Amino acid sequence: MTRASLGRMNKRAMNFYAGPAALPLAALERARDELVDFDGTGMSLMEHSHRGPAYDVVHREALSLIRELMGVPESYHVLLLQGGARQQFAMIPMNLLHPGKSADYVVTGNWGRQALGEAKLLGEARAAANTEQEGGTFHAVPTELDLDPDAAYLHLTSNNTLFGTQWASYPETGGVPLIADMTSDMISRPIDVSRFGLIYAGAQKNLGPAGVTVVIVRKDLVEGARKDIPNVFRYASFAAKDSLWNTPPTFPIYMLRNTLDVIKEQGGAAGMAKLSEKKSGLLYERLDAHPDFFRSPVGQASRSLVNVVFRLPTPELEQAFLAAAAERSMIGLKGHRIVGGIRASLYNHVQLEWVEALGDLMDTFRAKHG
Ligand SMILES: *Cc1c(COP(=O)(O)O)cnc(C)c1O
Repeated sequence: MTRASLGRMNKRAMNFYAGPAALPLAALERARDELVDFDGTGMSLMEHSHRGPAYDVVHREALSLIRELMGVPESYHVLLLQGGARQQFAMIPMNLLHPGKSADYVVTGNWGRQALGEAKLLGEARAAANTEQEGGTFHAVPTELDLDPDAAYLHLTSNNTLFGTQWASYPETGGVPLIADMTSDMISRPIDVSRFGLIYAGAQKNLGPAGVTVVIVRKDLVEGARKDIPNVFRYASFAAKDSLWNTPPTFPIYMLRNTLDVIKEQGGAAGMAKLSEKKSGLLYERLDAHPDFFRSPVGQASRSLVNVVFRLPTPELEQAFLAAAAERSMIGLKGHRIVGGIRASLYNHVQLEWVEALGDLMDTFRAKHG
């Protein structure tokens, strides 16, 4: 190993970006070691056919790790798609919003609003709750929903990446399939997949790099889905071919597999949940102890364990805090432009030590400026 690469590794950034986000070092090092010569084949995995045996092993491992880590029942497909979470905003109504039906959406922020907007381009869709206020401040998870008992489905955003709010538990929907955008919290805690009709996530926050989207969908919904749409947007196309209907994003799926392997080693979804509680607890405990200095705009019941959002007394202090953080190799802490302030994203691969270092900075910064 060269001196330069050692130097770089000693200075691994403490990455709090909202996504793409930190990956496990072990997953990256595995990729580095295998990048040019995959498994003694004399070529990179990126150069292998997606129909060949070398890639096939990786593909099936990624699929089975998702099944295992999320406890996905046999009655569900696991699909690996492209187009990100936003493509799902469109594919869900294209496939599942039949003519004459209406779909329900819970709008708790920009992602839910955009998902509803896409559905409205394709058919009937309405808000079953909307906690967005003018000016885009903070959107609590609603306690009451105005559900249409005949809705094609109910869509919600399990974690509100921008605003730092998260559903602590999911609503009962009776016979209406529950659909969740879990882009920012998939496999960050155990869930009961059987309560959902469809779950999806762009991988780039908790599960791997950008370029692959995980979709878990009940088989009967795929069977009953619309057939009068282009094949590239049909869940059925991918379900019938184990997500090898066309060329999948082989390298992102390889990185997904490496990352899922690390998650499994670290105790799976339960291990991730413990870690998330610990990491977010370190920050919320400081917000609660010093509300005169750190303002949390999120109500207790809606607090996210993966995106902790807070304000300091003035924008100038926020700037100074971000600068002090950058000096210590802590990056990605600037709040989303709609919200301002500070946002610490604590996804699966954000190390506990990084969050401890951030907590220390909060203490010293408050001691100096409070
Ligand atoms: C990041 C994010 C998205 C956008 O994902 P893309 O893969 O960029 O389309 C959608 N929903 C949620 C909840 C997100 O956090």
